[in-house]
Amino acid sequence: MALKILDTCINCDMCEPECPNKAIFMGEEIYEIDPNRCTECVGHYDNPTCISVCPIRCITVDPNHQETLDQLAEKYVRLTS
Ligand code: SF4
Ligand code: SF4
Repeated sequence: MALKILDTCINCDMCEPECPNKAIFMGEEIYEIDPNRCTECVGHYDNPTCISVCPIRCITVDPNHQETLDQLAEKYVRLTS
């Protein structure tokens, strides 16, 4: 499933440049994740890199965007083709 950024985000700018899919962008108040571009880093890394770099751990799974590993892999192919 795509990930989401909680409203506790402190806009530290760490995650946005690290996303290999350019899925992270500055929203109206905090950074947000585009569910159409987030693959949970499938195709790039073993684990979501944005979670690894966030100093306050405010990035989590988004239950509103449930996807299987196959669907995430298909999204990766679509984004890179
Ligand atoms: Fe980007 Fe990966 Fe984070 Fe999704 S999990 S927003 S693809 S860094
Ligand atoms: Fe917000 Fe975490 Fe991204 Fe920093 S790394 S901008 S705190 S989501």
